[in-house]
Amino acid sequence: MGNSALKVLVVKTVQEYRDWRDKLPSGKIGFVPTMGALHEGHMALVQAARKTCDHVVVSIFVNPLQFGPNEDFAKYPRVLEQDLALCEKFGVSAVFHPTVDVIYPNGQSGITTVHPPAELIAGLCGAFRPGHFVGVATVVNNLLNIVRPDYAFFGEKDYQQLQVIKHMVADLNMQVQIVGVPIVRESDGLALSSRNVYLSGKQRELAPQIYGALTAVKYLIHGGATISDAVAHGKSLLSALDGVTVQYLECCDPFTLQSVSDPKAPSIVLVAAKYGDVRLIDNLVVNA
Ligand code: AMP
Repeated sequence: MGNSALKVLVVKTVQEYRDWRDKLPSGKIGFVPTMGALHEGHMALVQAARKTCDHVVVSIFVNPLQFGPNEDFAKYPRVLEQDLALCEKFGVSAVFHPTVDVIYPNGQSGITTVHPPAELIAGLCGAFRPGHFVGVATVVNNLLNIVRPDYAFFGEKDYQQLQVIKHMVADLNMQVQIVGVPIVRESDGLALSSRNVYLSGKQRELAPQIYGALTAVKYLIHGGATISDAVAHGKSLLSALDGVTVQYLECCDPFTLQSVSDPKAPSIVLVAAKYGDVRLIDNLVVNA
């Protein structure tokens, strides 16, 4: 049951978790699913959970199902001791840290999976990461079934993911409240991400331009530009940077994630850009 030097409880199996939950004093359970390599962005979710809930459970699980064959599953950062120290510092009640076999007892293929609606996952990240959101919805459904929280907290940084999860919970009548938490940024605007550690010095210098491009798009639209002109400008700002490729930069309806053309309509601008091999995503509300 974890490292004795640390006070935060670590549970590794479904049974261990159930035993712990059964003995828990009554109160609301808040759940923060993560893949570890925790930072202040994750801790904002923990803090939001602590505000509304009596017990906070963080899961740390790098989910193989949501990575494509050429993606970074094997080299995704795994720093458990550091993560546990952060969880302890921020008052997490228990960390659920299962193995792949615990989450997928029947293996990873030929199992029951959750398929979000095509309209939500065909575009944006889904277009560049086939199968990703099936992997995400499947593991979140699985984790929610194990943890059985009252509330589950997700970052707005992964905006498409948040919408996929909200739809899943509504469509399947799942008994949990999904809460979105605003993006935590570095002082220069770069959204915190576990993948930022892979940026070279030069890439790190150029990375805040992602937020710069989103902000430019927002103010161009507010200043009267058409959405297509604003989006083209935002893309050109990023594409001009050495070693940067824009996968998408789009202005979408905040709920359906379909492209928006009316500059006055509610909208959010979303981006994915590759800095060498490092894929970064971000977004900004244009009109609430
Ligand atoms: P991950 O460990 O990358 O799967 O992220 C776990 C959760 O933390 C997801 O709900 C993310 O959206 C959220 N998250 C990651 N980075 C940030 C950030 N910079 N601000 C807010 N939430 C974040």
